[in-house]
Amino acid sequence: MKQKLLFANITEESNWSDWRWQLRNRIMSSDELDQYANLSVYEKASIQKAIDVFPMAITPYYASLINKDDSTCPIRMQCIPNPKELIKGSGDMDDPLHEDGDSPCPGLTHRYPDRVLLLVTNECSMYCRHCTRKRKVGDNEKVSKDSDIIKAIEYIKAHPDIRDVLLSGGDPFVLSTNRLEQIIRRVREIPHVQVIRIGTRTPVVMPQRITDHLVKMLKKYHPIWINTHFNHPREFTEESARALAKLADAGIPLGNQTVLLKGINDCAFIIKKLAHLLVSNRVRPYYLYQCDLSRGIEHFRTPVSKGVEIMEALIGHTSGFAVPTFVVDAPGGGGKIPVLPNYQLSSTSTKTVLRNYEGVICIYEEPANYNSSCSSTCNVCKGSSALHDPIGLQKLINPNAKMVSLIPEGNRRKKRLKIYKDILHDN
Ligand code: SF4
Repeated sequence: MKQKLLFANITEESNWSDWRWQLRNRIMSSDELDQYANLSVYEKASIQKAIDVFPMAITPYYASLINKDDSTCPIRMQCIPNPKELIKGSGDMDDPLHEDGDSPCPGLTHRYPDRVLLLVTNECSMYCRHCTRKRKVGDNEKVSKDSDIIKAIEYIKAHPDIRDVLLSGGDPFVLSTNRLEQIIRRVREIPHVQVIRIGTRTPVVMPQRITDHLVKMLKKYHPIWINTHFNHPREFTEESARALAKLADAGIPLGNQTVLLKGINDCAFIIKKLAHLLVSNRVRPYYLYQCDLSRGIEHFRTPVSKGVEIMEALIGHTSGFAVPTFVVDAPGGGGKIPVLPNYQLSSTSTKTVLRNYEGVICIYEEPANYNSSCSSTCNVCKGSSALHDPIGLQKLINPNAKMVSLIPEGNRRKKRLKIYKDILHDN
């Protein structure tokens, strides 16, 4: 609690523990940063330029975790702007994940067959400098309107394939509990929605938000799943642990999404320590994300090979449930693509050759005379669109598949053939 002394205006313990106080007292200008980080006049001026492009907001709680004398402090690097944010990298895009492109109505992204992303606010308690949604988060002109949320919910109602709705933003937990409940209730009333997920960084940056009142409300709408966003072991404190315990005690399965960030957590030892802290707090490390190609965050990016190197150091070296899936969220709306070290070395019809984390090479003997045990009495697949309207490789490998190849649009060989046939036809 030593850090709280930084706040001369705290008169009572209850202020610090009050999430609304944390929100009201956020650090939002470069002048206010003095007491948290040693900054030169030049640094302050350049930070202000970055703030003009992407706003800064740091809760007193998160600011209290900064090591004032360390310019490479992982907490500092995630919350204090850097003039490098103004540099446009060669691969930078405004909407690298094509969330707006895959949006049937404002605030809703429908990319995967059975789930949608619903953005319920564009505000966060803290603006992460590596945010992938920089194009809209914190922008007063892009506030989520109630009419948009109603339209999005109508869309979900009209699409019975949607069984999983992810509420995100911004951070849904900056909304009042009443407002959030209104939205959750409307979604829960849709019969085909099985699961409601919430993506939130508040357990990390404003754990005071996880109140008994909030948790009591969430419990009414199970199954609710929550994904948090811890990036570094230093983000674990007594307060964040308490917030996670409240959520877990309410029967909410917790997952964590970490973004791989240069100079912050691009190290197998840091990620392993983080994973162990997460599972000790009943949070499953869910994804390790390759940093996206969003504008102004190239200085946080690592090569994809760094993630593979980290996975090599985790798989087999620690409990399976402590190992996240490393994914590249593919630019252009390709979605999350898992990337792994290669463990399958070769295969024949009788044997598969594998290697383990120690470098041991072994064979797996394939079963003799294997036939799929699909029986006429089992009906699980019968109504499934995956069988009758397959996607991707399923078009080739599902039992009803008629196609023998998938050819990308614009294939040069096919184009050439078509031109030749057209000429023949014209003659
Ligand atoms: S909490 Fe999430 S949405 Fe908000 S700024 Fe951080 S990364 Fe972006």
